[in-house]
Amino acid sequence: MARVLITGAAGFLGSHLCDRFIKEGMEVIGMDNLITGDLKNIEHLFQLSNFQFYHHDVSKFIHVPGPLDYILHFASPASPIDYLKIPIQTLKVGSLGTHNCLGLAMAKKARIIVASTSEVYGDPHVHPQVESYWGNVNPVGPRGVYDEAKRFQEAITMAYHTFHGLETRIVRIFNTYGPRMRLNDGRVLPAFIGQALRGEDLTIFGDGSQTRSFCYVDDLVEGIYRLLMSDYAQPVNIGNPDEITIKEFAEEIIQLTETNQKVIYHPLPTDDPKQRRPDISLAKEILKWEPKVHRAEGLKLTYEYFKTLSADELNKIEHKNFEPFNRK
Ligand code: UDP
Repeated sequence: MARVLITGAAGFLGSHLCDRFIKEGMEVIGMDNLITGDLKNIEHLFQLSNFQFYHHDVSKFIHVPGPLDYILHFASPASPIDYLKIPIQTLKVGSLGTHNCLGLAMAKKARIIVASTSEVYGDPHVHPQVESYWGNVNPVGPRGVYDEAKRFQEAITMAYHTFHGLETRIVRIFNTYGPRMRLNDGRVLPAFIGQALRGEDLTIFGDGSQTRSFCYVDDLVEGIYRLLMSDYAQPVNIGNPDEITIKEFAEEIIQLTETNQKVIYHPLPTDDPKQRRPDISLAKEILKWEPKVHRAEGLKLTYEYFKTLSADELNKIEHKNFEPFNRK
């Protein structure tokens, strides 16, 4: 039975990856320091004999007894508000945490995939974003702690590949959504759905003309699985190219939730990318992968999940008095 370590296992993506690798018949070791992750995302796995959980911060030395075949490094705060709130941990998990994971992969002769991001392209001047584009990133802006940690992560991963011959994979993840997203992580989809469910106005940042392209989590997990099993060591975009403005997105959420909420406008956060859409030609070619779930379908499934949350969870606002953005 292959053994796999998944860091960030209690997070949104990490927990879905745990499910997938368990389904593949592998033994899964989940690791998380639970700063932004939540055990409820993986509690259904604790009864399984092929699942173990380590409560550990991967920025510190990682010890895992026994062999490992694969490592998936998915630990990191991933929403703008989270990484603005915990900037140093964000830098550490992308740099020191990645270094530790790479060292562990060397020691275990394991193949490693690291979670990179469309943020490596910054506020892009090339549209849609192709892997060969180097990006337009502000290293000292509010997003710099995340973007530069992820860029460093790609650099050190590639160095381990070329210098040590380690089997490495780099996935550049574009905006992803689905069940188990944290309601209060500040990202646009949980923000809008939470607002609609609480009967509040939907907060559009800027004039809402900025675009994003949202990928349903099952499609993303399939792309990641295929990339890990491939022999391709260069970065690969995984995301859904179906691009939409944030204003249109707000309208879709209002229709979905049948709430007739109004939208209100807030200033645009500093360095908020104006447009984002993956070019997925490479993934199509080498992984024979493309997303299958349409936004209407994926949003319905996600809304069903958010409707199961308790009133307490729905009304818990983590970021109420937190105003981290240097707004323009
Ligand atoms: N956004 C918004 N209202 C919100 C939260 C976010 O208009 O309540 C906008 C945000 O400014 C950005 C887009 O939605 O342009 C996506 O934001 P998110 O934080 O989900 O992720 P990003 O892609 O910026 O990392």
